[in-house]
Amino acid sequence: MPYDPSDPTARDSALQPSEQRRLEEANFYLENNKPAQAAPIFAKLAEVLRSANQPKRAAALHSQAALAFARSRNEAAVTQARAALTLLLQYDRDQQASMFYKDLTGELTKRGMKSAAETLTREFGDKIPQPAPLDPRAAQLSRLPSNCPNCGAPLRQSEVTWTEMGTLECGFCGTPIRPTA
Ligand SMILES: [Zn+2]
Repeated sequence: MPYDPSDPTARDSALQPSEQRRLEEANFYLENNKPAQAAPIFAKLAEVLRSANQPKRAAALHSQAALAFARSRNEAAVTQARAALTLLLQYDRDQQASMFYKDLTGELTKRGMKSAAETLTREFGDKIPQPAPLDPRAAQLSRLPSNCPNCGAPLRQSEVTWTEMGTLECGFCGTPIRPTA
């Protein structure tokens, strides 16, 4: 059955409670500057969501894994980035793909991982769309809480998903996010 974001039971079934705790743990490691501990957890949970037929959320977690591996100078960043970008492009998440690509290649360059950055540029450089003009809905993003109230993920624009109804949900756990007044 396809994932229906308006169905709260579908949201809960994607990650088991123990996996949900792993996600909180990984976000905690990342916030506390321990990307090497966070990265493999994100990678594992991305696979879980992929098997649960939730490719967009899997892409968000593969992206997070790639950035965390890059921050810990681990070449596994390339594998995770490849998985994330392939999914994002497949599902027309152009904005998310281009923001992630820019963040990650910047991070790899900063960490001296030149060959990893070159590999990604060679494979995806031509496929990444130019960033679209800023979405008018993006104004709402400045009024979001900085972290997801459920899983603790940082709610930067690239990690928030717009639903069909124009509301926002956490790109990691699917919790609906309301802008503060
Ligand atoms: Zn969340």
